[in-house]
Amino acid sequence: MTSSPLLLEKIPLFATVDVLVVGGGSAGCCAALAAAGEGAGAVLLIERYGFLGGTSTQMLDTFYGFFTPGEEPRKVVGGLPDTVVNALDAAGAVFLRPNTYGAGTGVNYNPERLKLVWDKLLATAGVRVLLHATLVAADQDAAGRIVGVVISTKSGFLRLNARRFIDASGDADLCHAAGVPLEKAGEREPAQTLTTTFRMSNVDLPAYAAAGGKRMLMERMAEAVERGAHGLPRKSGSLHEMNARGCISTVAVRVAEVDATDFEQLGAAEREGRRQAFVYEGFFRECVPGFGAANIVGLSHQIGVRETRRVYGEYRLTQEDCLSVARFDDRVLLCGAPIEDHRATKDGGAETVWGYVPGGQAYDVPYRTLVPRGRDELWVAGRCFSATHDAHASCRSMAQTMAMGQAAGTAAALSLTAKCGAREVSIPELQVRLRASGSTLEAPAQPAATGREEWAKNFPNN
Ligand SMILES: Cc1cc2nc3c(=O)[nH]c(=O)nc-3n(C[C@H](O)[C@H](O)[C@H](O)COP(=O)(O)OP(=O)(O)OC[C@H]3O[C@@H](n4cnc5c(N)ncnc54)[C@H](O)[C@@H]3O)c2cc1C
Repeated sequence: MTSSPLLLEKIPLFATVDVLVVGGGSAGCCAALAAAGEGAGAVLLIERYGFLGGTSTQMLDTFYGFFTPGEEPRKVVGGLPDTVVNALDAAGAVFLRPNTYGAGTGVNYNPERLKLVWDKLLATAGVRVLLHATLVAADQDAAGRIVGVVISTKSGFLRLNARRFIDASGDADLCHAAGVPLEKAGEREPAQTLTTTFRMSNVDLPAYAAAGGKRMLMERMAEAVERGAHGLPRKSGSLHEMNARGCISTVAVRVAEVDATDFEQLGAAEREGRRQAFVYEGFFRECVPGFGAANIVGLSHQIGVRETRRVYGEYRLTQEDCLSVARFDDRVLLCGAPIEDHRATKDGGAETVWGYVPGGQAYDVPYRTLVPRGRDELWVAGRCFSATHDAHASCRSMAQTMAMGQAAGTAAALSLTAKCGAREVSIPELQVRLRASGSTLEAPAQPAATGREEWAKNFPNN
């Protein structure tokens, strides 16, 4: 994935736009929505799969990060992420899931419905979306500034030119192609493990709850591992009720020590993830009350990848920033989510290491973490933003990745209006625009109501 002048000469130009967003995950969709909403002109988003949402629709069903964890949760994300939740609610496809595994109250949604919600929101905002379009190279001028990209499609290779670029590919594919300095997961710290999520139907949830629910599940898993039964890969794993009757979704499979930017390693991880999923199915059916007649009805679209490449930006968010509740003048979003590091153990198993932001507070995330060092035409949003391994393990929930997208898209629009580079965007103006569209830049004094059906009190656009 490098720029190649020889190749570029022969590739037809398909479109020229003002803002090009690479990747249609939670960050990329919000970046495109914000850029279009702030009057950036022609906004185009490319996505390698046939649907939008990235991890939000490929493998998950719960937004974390809207609420801080703990006894007195605060709602620390608003703006476009609220619009997404409200659109899901209008379709009856959302409820609040109480904090059962440490990350705080989650907003549970129907992921298939969310694909439609992303389609509709982007179409209404006038964003041009190219699905089945994979970025393969960057076109750079003599000064190294990105001026276009090459995409691979069923119709062949095509070129897209733009004035501003937002890399929301999760893997920082555009930055990688353009030679932007990056840290790859695993280089300094073990990369977070990968997970194939799976969904089971025909679960008797009352019977499961009556038998002890989560506590009982943990005991049964630990017993099975002690006995060497079923070949379970680890002693823990979580499941939760879905937005469909008698269905559950899991985060149980763990595949460790994978470089997910290496396609052969990723392919092997896909096969291992599927194998483990059906090991868990056998265990659930035989050992867990309520699951006797249940079976797998869906695996995630691909194995879930938590981290790959993170850019070196104008600022790098650190573990100390998270745990000292850092304040920054150029904040563009807040995060109170704990550090949640899924890592391999020496005995070949896997564990999750937690680190909580003190006092249930939320730290500031600075604008400079979205600007790759020294760049004027380029932003990053989502899980490839500028952070250390530990800080990334906190600031990667989807409420935060959506908020990053909103900030990057708004900044790109402002830079076009002001005819300035990413590093010169006026921070006061950016913060005014973000506040005007409902973004939260100060944590509320009052705790939020987080009962199962009380979500509407927290999402003011409703
Ligand atoms: C197993 C797992 C469980 C998690 N659990 C939760 C949870 O319960 N709640 C929560 O809030 N967060 C959770 N997270 C974290 C969160 O989901 C992610 O950090 C977040 O979704 C990342 O969003 P993103 O938009 O940055 O990237 P992604 O969602 O990865 O989106 C990137 C998009 O870019 C596309 N793309 C990639 N490369 C290219 C290319 N070259 N050309 C074109 N398109 C490309 C991809 O197809 C994708 O659509 C979990 C993550 C994993 C992996």
